[in-house]
Amino acid sequence: MLEQAEALLKQYFGFDAFRQGQKQAIESIVNKQKDTVCIMPTGGGKSVCYQIPALMMEGTTIVVSPLISLMKDQVDALNEMGIRSSFLNSTLSAAEMNKRLKKCEDGEYQLLYITPERLQNERFFQLLDRLTIPLIAIDEAHCISEWGHDFRPSYRFIQECLNRLTKRPVIVALTATATKKVHRDICEQLGMNEEETIFTGFARENLSFQVVKGENSDRFITHYMKKNKLESGIIYTATRKEAENIYNRLKKQKIKVGIYHGGLDDDVREEQQNLFLNDDIQVMVATSAFGMGINKSNVRFVIHHQIPRDIESYYQEAGRAGRDGLQSECILLFSPQGVRMQRFLIEQSTEDEVRFQHELLKLRQMVDYCHTEQCLQQFVMDYFDQSASAPCQKCSNCLDEREREEVTREAQMVLSCTVRMNERFGKMMIAQVLAGSKNKKVLDLGFDRLPTYALMKQQSAQQISDFIEFLITEEYLHMSEGAYPTLKVTHKGKKVLVGQEAVYKKQAVKREAIQENDALFEQLRAVRMKLAREQGVPPFVVFSDQTLKEMSAVQPKTEEELLHIKGIGAQKREKYGDVFLEEIRLFIEKEKNKKIEEEK
Ligand code: ADP
Repeated sequence: MLEQAEALLKQYFGFDAFRQGQKQAIESIVNKQKDTVCIMPTGGGKSVCYQIPALMMEGTTIVVSPLISLMKDQVDALNEMGIRSSFLNSTLSAAEMNKRLKKCEDGEYQLLYITPERLQNERFFQLLDRLTIPLIAIDEAHCISEWGHDFRPSYRFIQECLNRLTKRPVIVALTATATKKVHRDICEQLGMNEEETIFTGFARENLSFQVVKGENSDRFITHYMKKNKLESGIIYTATRKEAENIYNRLKKQKIKVGIYHGGLDDDVREEQQNLFLNDDIQVMVATSAFGMGINKSNVRFVIHHQIPRDIESYYQEAGRAGRDGLQSECILLFSPQGVRMQRFLIEQSTEDEVRFQHELLKLRQMVDYCHTEQCLQQFVMDYFDQSASAPCQKCSNCLDEREREEVTREAQMVLSCTVRMNERFGKMMIAQVLAGSKNKKVLDLGFDRLPTYALMKQQSAQQISDFIEFLITEEYLHMSEGAYPTLKVTHKGKKVLVGQEAVYKKQAVKREAIQENDALFEQLRAVRMKLAREQGVPPFVVFSDQTLKEMSAVQPKTEEELLHIKGIGAQKREKYGDVFLEEIRLFIEKEKNKKIEEEK
């Protein structure tokens, strides 16, 4: 049985070997006919766990998936590989729906994707009951649990539907984020045996997690975008307003940026999402409304402009980076204002006291993540009750070798100036006084007569403001709420003022680009884009970045060599092999000529 599975993996997907957990899942589903839970990290390869069984078992495998937007790409990708599949959802016209239902009835599909809502449709249920269904795959299975972070009431229809079916198929429930509580809940809801679980851990080896504190977030993003001009990424914000601000700013900087949040019309959201999937825009600025089920595989970075509300959401959102297995970065920009904002949002949205306390606790754990000195990946693993993984050696804590520098004197200058201005002003005003600005407001208020005026005049107001940001992050200063936030010295800050506590600061991290420049890769990317455009599918459906990277490194010359590249199966070689081989040939020739020229 396993040889057959391996052969199918090679033939359709172009992969040589199964990843951890995939083989066990297939064995459990196909051989043992057992209901199975698969808990694997994002990008771990959960789809293969039901797609290969779908090819091996007779009939149509049903995939229940939460998001309409995701289905089309998944189905495109499968058909591209030569696997007969389709989806049913509300975006289809009545005629198209009938056509597809007819094909279902005739058993033409190996895989059929549906939303949970469809199970409530009696006509569809009747059809389902007539079909040969060997397997039902429930994707994003944590949506069934109220204790998860994406509870969807419609997932509860699944259980009812399973109970009504004349013949119960094998069930596979898949998720990337499940605490023990959620795992238990999934099994209870679906009547599954908890022991039949394949768990490969949550760790993501190709992601480097970073927490950035005390840096100006706007400038951080600008600088980051300059360093990574060609990379695709997502910037998450806590609110729509913040998303709009960043979007407008990046747009002014001529960056190909998109926006996505709950306040936009459906068609705008859909358009933005498609632009992003098709690599027509580089960065998406979005609230958490964006991304559930986004399977774009070449997202190279995910930046959180503010702290998210809990570690599950964070790991899920950050985990959208690097699904193709290439090195990617997940950066969280920490600020105490961000924490206050989340607290406010929780207060607004949660009336039930028990739930409120539960959410506050989760937010606290998220804040702990930002302050821990432990390996960040390990911290998350501990949170998901998965103990004793080794430090990742990639996160900002594992790699932190920066020297600490004592900045007590500078801190005292800022704190003292804040007090002398009666704690009634904001960051910029304090910075201007310390920098010795001749700004009209500074002079009108007589701040030029303060003993702290121009005390830090060697630095610009902007530099001082950044340093104040650091003091806020480290809670030496407290920033008030509102449109004109003012600063107050905290208890901790007072200790610094009277010389009872010293202040240390680490230098900001020097950032390198995520990927090195690779000319052939860029050329292959362009070819892929052209092909994708012609066919109206997203580029990653043609080939993943990883496949292109490998092509660029190996530079295959024959069809045979091409087949050894990960992600190229028989159908894709047939369809695209020639074009890519030709591009590589031209590249090699050009390089050769260049060399000859240089040697002349
Ligand atoms: P998940 O649903 O777990 O987030 P996917 O099923 O989307 O992950 O797979 C993530 C990526 O890994 C995809 O690009 C997929 O093609 C690739 N992949 C899956 N299985 C294998 C394998 N056995 N070998 C190599 N790549 C794989």
